[in-house]
Amino acid sequence: METKVSKQHHLENEPIYKGLKVNDGVTEKPMMNPHFKRVSRPKYSVDDFVQGILAGNVTVLSQAVTLVESNKLEHQELAQQIIERCLPFTGQSMRIGLTGVPGAGKSTSIDTFGMHLCKQGRKLAVLAIDPSSERSGGSILGDKTRMEHLSHEPNAFIRPSPTAGSLGGVARKTRETIMLCEAAGYDTIIVETVGVGQSETAVHSMVDFFLLIQLSGTGDELQGIKRGIMEMADGIIINKADGDNIPKANLAASHFRNALHLFPPTESGWKPRVMTYSGFYGLGIKEIWDMIDEYRHFAMDSGYFDYKRNKQAKWWMYESVNETLHRSFYENEAIKALLPDIEQAVLSDNLSSFIGAKKLIETYQKSIRGENN
Ligand code: GDP
Repeated sequence: METKVSKQHHLENEPIYKGLKVNDGVTEKPMMNPHFKRVSRPKYSVDDFVQGILAGNVTVLSQAVTLVESNKLEHQELAQQIIERCLPFTGQSMRIGLTGVPGAGKSTSIDTFGMHLCKQGRKLAVLAIDPSSERSGGSILGDKTRMEHLSHEPNAFIRPSPTAGSLGGVARKTRETIMLCEAAGYDTIIVETVGVGQSETAVHSMVDFFLLIQLSGTGDELQGIKRGIMEMADGIIINKADGDNIPKANLAASHFRNALHLFPPTESGWKPRVMTYSGFYGLGIKEIWDMIDEYRHFAMDSGYFDYKRNKQAKWWMYESVNETLHRSFYENEAIKALLPDIEQAVLSDNLSSFIGAKKLIETYQKSIRGENN
């Protein structure tokens, strides 16, 4: 594009400022190509999407995931059609959940662990659920820059956490993304989350094996770990077992083993394991995968694997109904108009909570039946 030179009047070039000469500036090129128009309509038809995904085309897969993550109704409808068509090709992967506090070494570990798997010829998808990403304006988890080696690995697909929406919404999108990745031939899926909130429950509801990364050397290893999270874990792995830290890591491991003895037996009959490893130096990585593989055989032989997946599918059906109804209710115009008054009436003791709720529900039901009053 030609650079335009503007003809500007410069006061400094008037005769009174003798000896001073100010040249016209150069207009800066626009940051974006002015001919570029953002087209929100997807380029592909449902058929194109499905064929591309089944052929393992990463560009098509990424665009399909973008549709899954979009909040636009037309995108969601398209995404649902794609998922439905992909459904017969899903379910064959090993789905692994991974949680740990920030700094525990999740990205370092996924990088090393993922490379180990890809070298064995596996195809790995790394997804994330990060409930804080909406607030921070961008997801940290699942970010390619944190997984230096894996991000260059053709058999790995890394996708950051969907950002918009409630935890339930974000989790649903991740679950749908798992299905698309499976249809695209990824046989191992890692879903990463920060071990600080409720997101573990959401991850637990979509994976086969749940790994908890812990650190040693704090002197009080069990502190700050929610019992619920530990109870969910099929494996507790203690990272940074390298150099001087090895004895501390071993000590932490024995603390965790003792703590696990106090827990009730798991539904699957599997006894959660505790291991030490070093994500950074790649020590103990093979053993972690062997544990997961052993679990898979164990759970498949007992029938628990399929039982759990069925249970999860049922859970997601109810979750999806709840979420849809919730959204439909609070986004209903009649409800939006009435809600502040009812809330105020309840707050000022002019209305009981239950009558307030009843009025709202009746208004909602009338509204969806198309009655105005
Ligand atoms: P995340 O926040 O859980 O993803 O943690 P990171 O993977 O970003 O790791 C946090 C810090 O711990 C980084 O400085 C890593 O280099 C370091 N780290 C991760 N794994 C290991 C390990 O196995 N050994 C040692 N010594 N440091 C590690």
